[in-house]
Amino acid sequence: MPTAPIAWRSAEVREIVVETPRAKTIRLEVPGWPGHLPGQHVDVRLTAEDGYQAQRSYSISSPPEEDGIALTVERLDDGEVSTFLTDELRAGDRLELRGPLGGYFTWTAARRGPLALVAGGSGIVPLMAMIRHRAARGSHVPTHVLCSWRTADDVIYRDELARLAAQADGLEVTHTLTRRAPVDWRGLTRRIDREMLSERLPGPDARPLSYVCGPTAMVESVATLLVSLGHAPDRIRTERFGPTGGAR
Ligand SMILES: Cc1cc2nc3c(=O)[nH]c(=O)nc-3n(C[C@H](O)[C@H](O)[C@H](O)COP(=O)(O)OP(=O)(O)OC[C@H]3O[C@@H](n4cnc5c(N)ncnc54)[C@H](O)[C@@H]3O)c2cc1C
Repeated sequence: MPTAPIAWRSAEVREIVVETPRAKTIRLEVPGWPGHLPGQHVDVRLTAEDGYQAQRSYSISSPPEEDGIALTVERLDDGEVSTFLTDELRAGDRLELRGPLGGYFTWTAARRGPLALVAGGSGIVPLMAMIRHRAARGSHVPTHVLCSWRTADDVIYRDELARLAAQADGLEVTHTLTRRAPVDWRGLTRRIDREMLSERLPGPDARPLSYVCGPTAMVESVATLLVSLGHAPDRIRTERFGPTGGAR
């Protein structure tokens, strides 16, 4: 029997938080929100005065334990929807959205680890919901996070990730910059490669659950490398955000 389509809901923008020069977090009040799993996303629909509509998917960055939901959107200079969400949207405005969507790219603390979370740019967003959920539940599941950014200015959630990692409860975070790094940068400075995955993530013998999210090219490259290192394909979950991802 065909399932009923998920209804569009009207959400109110409670707050907008500047994360980086290009990324903002939009906190939303969504009446009747049914709850979500870390890793899920919503579809956002914008309607112009002439009736023209544009729709895009955005991952939920907040954990299920929080009221409302939060999205973190990275501005693409020639983007239709991301420019509106990051430049025009204000607290008190309303947005149409539907969700939560996606059940495959999800993790809850009830699942065993260890976890290997690999992000390219805004691909950190659904992984952050998992990391926040892990913290909210007091989980000590060993979790290794590897994030690739173009520059230090692009690092989203930098302070929060550092604070969580400092709790020494099994969370380790590695950042790598692919374009340029400040002189005092203490992370890595190259694209994610085989050696980096091997050194910074649990090996295949530990049977980690791997979640890889970001631009299409990066996700495919990382998933292929993980398999070549001996990780079981059925332990690797991927989410592709964009058509090319060549810029990262
Ligand atoms: C399941 C899912 C979850 C997502 N979650 C997030 C999220 O949490 N945060 C977030 O910022 N984005 C997320 N995205 C990407 C988002 O849906 C849009 O694709 C992105 O915001 C660009 O939309 P736009 O209308 O601004 O650009 P468009 O007008 O659609 O495209 C402008 C230009 O950018 C290129 N492009 C489009 N998308 C990307 C991309 N992601 N990377 C690189 N180039 C691109 C296009 O080819 C085009 O040249 C997600 C995508 C999916 C499928």
